[in-house]
Amino acid sequence: MTVKVVIIGASLAGLFAAAAVAAAGAQAVIIERDVLPDGPIPRKGVPQGRQPHVLLHRGLLAAEELLPDIRQALLSHGALPLDTGTWAWLGEYGWSPTWIPAYETVSATRPLLEHLVRERVRRLAGVTLHEGVRVNELHRNARDWRVVCDDATTLEADLVIDASGRGSRLPHWLTELGISISEPLMVDAHLGYACRTYRAIGKPPIEIAVMIAATPQTGRGALAIPVEDGNWLVVTIGYGAHRPSRSVAEFDEFLATLPDPAIADLTKHFEPVGDIAIHRQTGNRRNRYGRSRTWPAGLLAVGDAYCAFNPVFGQGITVAACQALLIRDALKHDRTPAGRGPLATRRLQRRIGAAADLPWSVATSEDLRHPSSSGSQTWVQRLLGVWTAELARLVAHGDRDAYLAFARVYHLMAAPAMLFNPRVIYSACRAAVRGMPEQNPRPRALNALAANRTAQGTPGR
Ligand SMILES: Cc1cc2nc3c(=O)[nH]c(=O)nc-3n(C[C@H](O)[C@H](O)[C@H](O)COP(=O)(O)OP(=O)(O)OC[C@H]3O[C@@H](n4cnc5c(N)ncnc54)[C@H](O)[C@@H]3O)c2cc1C
Repeated sequence: MTVKVVIIGASLAGLFAAAAVAAAGAQAVIIERDVLPDGPIPRKGVPQGRQPHVLLHRGLLAAEELLPDIRQALLSHGALPLDTGTWAWLGEYGWSPTWIPAYETVSATRPLLEHLVRERVRRLAGVTLHEGVRVNELHRNARDWRVVCDDATTLEADLVIDASGRGSRLPHWLTELGISISEPLMVDAHLGYACRTYRAIGKPPIEIAVMIAATPQTGRGALAIPVEDGNWLVVTIGYGAHRPSRSVAEFDEFLATLPDPAIADLTKHFEPVGDIAIHRQTGNRRNRYGRSRTWPAGLLAVGDAYCAFNPVFGQGITVAACQALLIRDALKHDRTPAGRGPLATRRLQRRIGAAADLPWSVATSEDLRHPSSSGSQTWVQRLLGVWTAELARLVAHGDRDAYLAFARVYHLMAAPAMLFNPRVIYSACRAAVRGMPEQNPRPRALNALAANRTAQGTPGR
C-alpha cells in the first residue's frame, strides 16, 4: 500500500519534507496558501524572505542529499560559494582569523533558494502541489486523517506533516481534537532586523562577507553579504531598544555608529536597490510535540512549525533539511508509520525534535545573555559560557584549534563535545601558562576599503 502524505506549507521545510517522502517512494500532496511565484520573488506567506538567509554547511549537505543538483543550480543562478573562514567577523573579543579555511556556504537570496528547491520538488514523481489553498481544519478517524481546506476540498492522509511555519495552527487543531499538549518553550531576546539590498558601483571593493556581531554589551550589529546578480544584502541587527526601523537615515546612522565602520564604509561603494525591509518575529519557540502518550499516530511537525530559532544563528533551514532526512529514512524502513500505531510516529517526532537540540541550545543560551531577553541562564549554561568565552578569546588571538572547533559546532558538523577536544584544552592551558598570543589584526581587506574611499573620493549614493 502506498503511503499518502499531506504536507501543510510549501516553504523550505515543506518542500524538503516532500522530497524526503518522494525519495521513500510515498506520495506527497503539498498544500500552500500562497499562489506561488514563477521566479525568485519574495512572497506574502514568507515575510522573512527579504532578509538574508545563510545556509550552514550541514544544511547544504542535507539539501544536496535530498536534491542532488541544488548546489550547482544555485551556483548556475549566480549564488556565490563563500568559505566562511574568510569572513571578516568582529565578535565580543575581537576579529576572528580570516586565514583559516573553514566551511563552504553558498550565498543566495532566500527567494532564489526557495525557487530552485521548489522547481526541483515539483518535478519529483509522486509529489503534487496545490497552491492558493489554505488548510483550515484537521480531523481524524480510526484509520486516517482528513485535511480540510478553504476551497471546500478534503484530503485523506495516512500521514500529515505540518510545515506551516512559526504561525502554525497545529496547537489549535490539537486542542479541537481533544489532544492536550504542553505550552511551548520560549526565549525571546526581542531582536529586530532591517535589511537593504545594494548594488556595487563598479567592481565590489571586497569579495568577503563582513559581520559585526551584536554582543550583550552593544546589543547592535550588522552583516553585509554578497548574493546573486552582483547584489549585496546589508542587514542591521538590534536587540530590545536597539531594534532598527525602516528609516533610511536611521539605517545609515546605525551602521556609522557600530563598533567598527567597515560596513558603513562598504555601503559608500554601493547604490541602494529598493527600500528597507524590517522583521521582528525572531523569538526562539519550541513545541513539545511527540513527548506525551497522547500524541496521535500519523502526525508530524517540522521546521519552524516545530521549533523556530532566533535567526541570527542561521539555523532554521539546516534543521528543516536534517529533519527531512530523518523522515525519508523512517518512511523507507517503516513504510506505514501511521499504520504502526502512535509509538512509531512518536519516536520519529522525537528524533525530529532531537535535530533541533543543539541549535536550540546555541540560540537560547546566547540569547539569555542579552539584557533584552525573557529569562536568565541556568547555572549549567553560565558554566559552559565561561568555557566558550575562553575559546572565543583564543579565536580572537588566532588559535587555529579553537577556531575550527567553533566552526564545526556552529555549522552543525560536530557535537558540542568538539569544544572540549584535547587540542582545544591544550590551547587553553598553554594560554593560561604563557599568556594569550597576539590579538588578530583587523582584516587588511577592510583597511583597504576605507583607504580606497579616501583615494577615489566617496562615490555617489
Ligand atoms: C529574519 C529572519 C532571518 C532568517 N535567517 C535565516 C538564516 O540565515 N538561515 C536559516 O537557516 N534560517 C533563517 N531563518 C529561518 C528560516 O526562515 C526558516 O527556518 C525556514 O524558512 C523554514 O521555515 P518553514 O518552512 O518551517 O516555515 P516558513 O518559511 O515560515 O513557511 C511556512 C509556509 O507555510 C504556509 N502556510 C502557513 N499556514 C498555512 C496553511 N494553513 N495552509 C497552507 N499553507 C500554510 C506559508 O504560506 C509558508 O509558505 C530566518 C528567519 C527570519 C525570521
